[in-house]
Amino acid sequence: MDDLLTHKRSPDHRTEIAISPEVTCGGNRLMLVAGPCAVESEEQMQECGDALSKAPVQALRGGVFKPRTSPYSFQGMGEEGLQILVESGKQHGLPVIAEIMSAKQLEDAYDSLDVLQIGSRNMQNFELLKEVSLVKKTVLLKRGFAATIEEFLMAAEYIMAGGNANVILCERGIRSFDSMTRNVLDLGAVAVLKQMTHLPVIVDPSHAAGRYELIADLARAAVACGADGLMIECHPQPKKSVSDARQALSLTEMSGLVKSLAAVAAAIGREVSLASEQVLAAK
Ligand code: PEP
Ligand code: MN
Repeated sequence: MDDLLTHKRSPDHRTEIAISPEVTCGGNRLMLVAGPCAVESEEQMQECGDALSKAPVQALRGGVFKPRTSPYSFQGMGEEGLQILVESGKQHGLPVIAEIMSAKQLEDAYDSLDVLQIGSRNMQNFELLKEVSLVKKTVLLKRGFAATIEEFLMAAEYIMAGGNANVILCERGIRSFDSMTRNVLDLGAVAVLKQMTHLPVIVDPSHAAGRYELIADLARAAVACGADGLMIECHPQPKKSVSDARQALSLTEMSGLVKSLAAVAAAIGREVSLASEQVLAAK
């Protein structure tokens, strides 16, 4: 077990992964990712890109192939959504992240995406893990909502064992008995993962809480506890989100949250990017 690729070789073994020439995850600086649950329109993604590049966050997310519980719910805009996401990322100098659920989607989206997201529902889709292990692009692997930490690390091990060393782990809440929150954010897992693995670990408080009014508190707690970044859902008109409306922050709330993270990050020797330096880089 001690020679697993995901495990630390020494207490200070940390891997920093570049997702674009300007953005890394796992170093001193936090990687903040934000955007809507699903790409819905060009206007929506333009507004998100405008506000989020100034917040600033370091990457833009937006689901285009959506894993929905019901087959009758909106399934995502597919290829058209992908082009909208890519365009907004380009215009605003932000790398882009979206979920892929199959080998076909991997092939179709590969050239467009900077990071390939594997969602909670596919964490143990071993064939998909093997597919992304054969490419070099960074994989954002989300913890299954009923997966143990060991199962989570073994899923990452599949990707690394096949030859792709660029894996970022994401804790997004696990299922429990209390329905007051959508899931339970497992910050204990973040602490454990930071000790066991050299890979970057980020936190998605949006799918954990399921309620927008809890996101900022959980985001700050995640940073205090050592997370290397955050992924947060937001929308120009949260109540009109076609999916996960209840957990979407407004773009103003998202910008406010980014600012509030600076002091928490500083308290543990980390930092967040400042708006002024990022706007200069985008030009
Ligand atoms: C998402 O991030 O878009 C998503 C569907 O999250 P999860 O896989 O964690 O449910
Ligand atoms: Mn969502």
